[in-house]
Amino acid sequence: MGFYEFFNLLKAPGTMNYDRAKPYNEKARGIPLPRKGSCSHCNLCTTVCPTKSIVSMSSEELSIDYGSCLQCGLCVDVCGENYLSNSGFLYAFSHHREELKLKFTLGTFTPKKYDVPENVLNFQKLTNKNGFNYREVAASGNNSVECELSASFNYVFDSEGEQVKSVASPKHADAIVYSGPIGENMEKPLNTAFECMPSPKALIAMGTEAISGGVFQKGKPPITPDLYVAGDPPRPDVAIQSFRFLMGKFKFSFQNALFDFMFGKKND
Ligand code: SF4
Ligand code: SF4
Repeated sequence: MGFYEFFNLLKAPGTMNYDRAKPYNEKARGIPLPRKGSCSHCNLCTTVCPTKSIVSMSSEELSIDYGSCLQCGLCVDVCGENYLSNSGFLYAFSHHREELKLKFTLGTFTPKKYDVPENVLNFQKLTNKNGFNYREVAASGNNSVECELSASFNYVFDSEGEQVKSVASPKHADAIVYSGPIGENMEKPLNTAFECMPSPKALIAMGTEAISGGVFQKGKPPITPDLYVAGDPPRPDVAIQSFRFLMGKFKFSFQNALFDFMFGKKND
């Protein structure tokens, strides 16, 4: 055994422990959130937002669609009142598109309860113990999601260690992970890839463009996705944690976790 091999034996493992991971990271930008304080209603944030994710803004209410938010931070940069902040909250994923749309009243909101869809329950029976294989389909995206998914297989994020593998053919897959807004020419290939898979199977919208189109018009997915993962692109650890959520490895609710994060009842 050489010096470096011996030295590596003494080092702590660098691979993420997903059971202990937090839904936020202080060093990340994350989703924009309102702070305590006042908004002067200058509307600069709504004007500058490239995806019109800040749906409405009034003296008491702020509605944001985190399924179309790119987490770019532009709204925070222009907010002279410092009412909006980059929160570092990263786990913007859900089985339900509606859960990613939030209305804050006087800076707070009431989390809603969302059930686990039946198709997801069936998928969990198949994958909870043994994991799953996915075929990735780049549906008119910009390859940023694919870069992050590639990184999810390195030794830090270790997707295969979490029993989630990427396969070449949809015939060998249990799920389709698609990125991009599904341009006209990609609707059929995405549909064909999904049809090739045996049931139970899942469709995963990975990234803001896949959820809402982002700055583009959104095409039609083969079915209503079973999992929506926001971020442009989502980080590798967020993608893997969302896969673990899909497999039923841990219980999670975007709105509950965000509420705990904002109001001090940290769920770590
Ligand atoms: S972070 Fe970017 S995309 Fe999201 S609401 Fe702000 S400006 Fe819009
Ligand atoms: S930029 Fe800030 S102060 Fe202006 S409307 Fe948006 S949140 Fe309010």
